[in-house]
Amino acid sequence: MPKENLIGYTSQQLQELLKGWGDKPYRGKQLFKWLYRHRQYDFNLMTDFSKDLRKRLDDAYCICDLHLEKSQTSRDGTKKFLFRLEDGLPLETVLIPDEDKRSTVCISSQVGCALNCRFCATGTMGLKRNLSVGEIVGQLIYLRNNFGEKAFSHIVFMGMGEPLHNFDNVVEAIKIISDDIGLDVSRKKITVSTSGITPKIKKLADTDLKVKLAISLNAAIQAKRVKIMPIAETFGLKELMQSAKYYAKKTNARLTFEYLLMAGLNDTMEDILALSKLVEGIPCKINIIAYNPVEGLNLKRPSEEKVDWFGRQLYTRAPAVTVRKSRGRDIDAACGQLAAKQRIRRNSDA
Ligand code: SF4
Repeated sequence: MPKENLIGYTSQQLQELLKGWGDKPYRGKQLFKWLYRHRQYDFNLMTDFSKDLRKRLDDAYCICDLHLEKSQTSRDGTKKFLFRLEDGLPLETVLIPDEDKRSTVCISSQVGCALNCRFCATGTMGLKRNLSVGEIVGQLIYLRNNFGEKAFSHIVFMGMGEPLHNFDNVVEAIKIISDDIGLDVSRKKITVSTSGITPKIKKLADTDLKVKLAISLNAAIQAKRVKIMPIAETFGLKELMQSAKYYAKKTNARLTFEYLLMAGLNDTMEDILALSKLVEGIPCKINIIAYNPVEGLNLKRPSEEKVDWFGRQLYTRAPAVTVRKSRGRDIDAACGQLAAKQRIRRNSDA
């Protein structure tokens, strides 16, 4: 029988495991530190454990990295990783270096996604399954093991999947990531990006994790948003803004609204006016990102002039507006693109 991987075990679970073996619970915390802080993969080198405990761990468990199938590096330095999970499903992670020593890793929370946003390659896959805590944390561990402690400074849950649809595992992963004897990343540097699952936004606010929240908005007019993001039919803009305000108040933090600008779809003066009105009274910034066309989705990127115009017009009407460059355009770095391509290739190979 294959040994179970310890990556993904929380501090609590490790304490319970060792307590069940008749050890003191603090041994569980020591094991947690070996796993995530030191990333020591050899039980025999866990020097503060008895020989007996090391053997017992080694007999029952392994500590294993995700299996990398493919990676690509863009001309702008963006790196994309395609992992192959044990059940054969693909998992994508994107590492985006910035100019100022900051580097952001975009991690996945699900394989595929149930939400089918019109602009997204992941949505075309449908939902395959939630990622386990170990598979979420494993993406970061892989990067640290291969690119060093400073492989990334910021983390965004903006890869494949809707993180709030995998709520419990995402929360447990954040606890491991932010624990000072875990991966030790400040919660101020962790962003959960959601398409707007309003009850879960409130639930996340109530956890007191106080991570940053980004809302993938993409339209400020309800009928338009429903066309772009079908989930908006279930959770309308009014309810979404209420939950956004609740989150901002509970966490005392500024929210981010992501606005993917698509030619002829959400790029008019009417959209600008609706957007500036919608965010009134909410401490937030708006990120405008020009859409990166995805094969087969029949949506267009607006011209540079249009993006500039949209940004400038909004800038005079809304609190804080940033026009962001889309990164990794030459390597399909938008979420789900690489996995979707591999899927098409596998299907056509079959
Ligand atoms: S944009 Fe996010 S929520 Fe929408 S289909 Fe893609 S992965 Fe799912």
